[in-house]
Amino acid sequence: MTDFFTEIGRESYEFCSNTEIKGFENCELISNEQLAGYLNEVIPNAHLTACPSIEFTPKDPIFVENPNCCGYFNTTTHEIHIDENGLAREGVNGLLDTIIHEVGHNAHSWLETFHPTIADKWNAIHKASYTEYAHTGIGFVSNYATTNVNEDFAETYYAYVRDPELLQTLSPQKYKFMHDWVFNGIQYAHSVAITPVAMANFNNNINPFLLSAGQEYTVGGIQDNIVSSHIHNDSQSPYRCFDMIAAG
Ligand SMILES: [Zn+2]
Repeated sequence: MTDFFTEIGRESYEFCSNTEIKGFENCELISNEQLAGYLNEVIPNAHLTACPSIEFTPKDPIFVENPNCCGYFNTTTHEIHIDENGLAREGVNGLLDTIIHEVGHNAHSWLETFHPTIADKWNAIHKASYTEYAHTGIGFVSNYATTNVNEDFAETYYAYVRDPELLQTLSPQKYKFMHDWVFNGIQYAHSVAITPVAMANFNNNINPFLLSAGQEYTVGGIQDNIVSSHIHNDSQSPYRCFDMIAAG
């Protein structure tokens, strides 16, 4: 039945907690099911609170009008939309980087709504990092993170999950904030980059993304599949994200 639905172009979807994952069958790199599996393993469910959907929508007018934009978080509806821009440049890793960044915006919104005192702690850390940045050149995980308090949160969140060594190097204080107050002690021992061997496994339906926080990874018994990621590069992606501002 599944094949039949695919053949006639019927929309397919998966769920991660209450969040609908859809449209990724069109990106040809990861299925809705695989992405839902990755997010279920990696992201605490609370971080997807009130997020109705994560959808691959390359024809979205916002992406057409903003060709450097890889994804955006709608601050009114909490929908996450993902473009194919990240795919051309960085493949499935670029896609996952963008998705985790956008999930970070939702997690920030969750903190502001349900844990405002923690959100206030973040505001103070964010403000202080401009001073640190002016004196030492570090304190932000990327140039894009210096944009504002929201992008700093999303970039820091992304780095905590996808490039924790980078975050620990550039801002131990922000790493500790994420560890203590956002991820409740969950740590990510490695960032996940996909090597050709892992990609081959992926194409054979062995999901190289499935992992448990803080554990060593093995994919098909080959430990070397997972290597440190150094794919973050602001010069290539000045607009990792475009945040839709709520009208009115
Ligand atoms: Zn953003």
